[in-house]
Amino acid sequence: MRPKDAPHAPTDTRTALVGLSRGELAAELASLGEKAFRTKQVWHWLYHRGAKTFSEMTDLGKELRAKLDERYIVGRPTVAREQTSTDRTRKWLMAFGDGQKAETVFIPEDDRGAVCISSQVGCTLTCRFCNTGTQRLVRNLTAAEILGQFMIARDSYGEWPTPTDERRMLSNIVMMGMGEPLYNFDNVAKALKIVMADDGIALGKRRITLSTSGVVPEIRRCGAELGVNLAISLHAPDDDTRTAIMPINKKYPLKELIAACRDYPGLQNSRRITFEYVMLKGINDSMSHARALTKLVAGIPAKFNLIPFNPWPGSLYECSDAETVSDFSETLYKAGYTATIRTPRGRDILAACGQLRTDSERLSAKEMRERETEERKLAQAAWDEKEAALKA
Ligand code: SAH
Ligand code: SF4
Repeated sequence: MRPKDAPHAPTDTRTALVGLSRGELAAELASLGEKAFRTKQVWHWLYHRGAKTFSEMTDLGKELRAKLDERYIVGRPTVAREQTSTDRTRKWLMAFGDGQKAETVFIPEDDRGAVCISSQVGCTLTCRFCNTGTQRLVRNLTAAEILGQFMIARDSYGEWPTPTDERRMLSNIVMMGMGEPLYNFDNVAKALKIVMADDGIALGKRRITLSTSGVVPEIRRCGAELGVNLAISLHAPDDDTRTAIMPINKKYPLKELIAACRDYPGLQNSRRITFEYVMLKGINDSMSHARALTKLVAGIPAKFNLIPFNPWPGSLYECSDAETVSDFSETLYKAGYTATIRTPRGRDILAACGQLRTDSERLSAKEMRERETEERKLAQAAWDEKEAALKA
């Protein structure tokens, strides 16, 4: 017989409670004949106390705990590997029920830090500079798997029960891991709503940032339904350059993307859109690119975050020189924009931006060669055109 509260096997068919909305949890408990107040109790154990087993839920009564254990599991991902960088960045390889895997990273500052969460196994998009982009999309992560990543990070730092704001090491969430969160919006939204509920994990919307490559229709939904901070992977000020490095730009070109940014609700000086900009030597890093950027976003409460390109095995680009990055930032500053330069974190364990990737389902060697050739052609053409325009 399976011991009580034993870690569940992948073949376990019991339903996971983590990841259910409050309404769904209430319906499950009602189906066991339990009264409404039980929902509040179980929710509290799951998301305030961080209980991993039903036997910890001491105020539920033995009988109910046994009943729960028969039909349900609490439901956390399994940690397949945990690595800590020399700079204290920590990365987990999460394994889900069906054996699929995704990575989660914690980026600590002195007394706080951000958990970088994945939304998909792989990615449908193929941004040329991104390691995840070399992986096929295997599947969307469920709300439980998205939420479970944060809960594992909290387990690892012993942050249950939910600490008050001031004491939280895991103070922020950034949806900047593997995958495009807005191509899995329903599950991401469900997970984040649970994270934001103030009688549980209780992380406010201002502590959550969602980064997107620019899925325009969902940006509007994200603003209306979640209201979290928005980061846009902009990476180029003109359509030619952007399309060459981010194929999604063909579907949602800059004009539409910038219009969606302008309309994002709640923007003001204290709540700006972050435009992320990966610094690629000879591709998007000239001072005319910087000036064009300031024109592009004029009128939007915005800040820039310049990301030095992080190399990964097989990557094709080089990072811009330090001096170029600094000049680029200076040009943006002079035009009135904050333009921080992101310090790469956890590079030694491949945990920095754009380095995440699991071993499943790589693109074939032929597909990679095709991509490389196409990429070189597109990047070169965009660059030649820019240079010609500059000389003219
Ligand atoms: N899919 C989402 C979120 C994940 S990526 C998005 O694209 O926004 C988080 C950030 O890292 C994005 O701005 C992404 O463009 C950037 N990035 C990807 N590969 C990178 C690399 N090799 N070096 C530096 N930044 C990279
Ligand atoms: Fe996907 Fe984001 Fe990487 Fe592009 S940068 S391939 S959208 S994870």
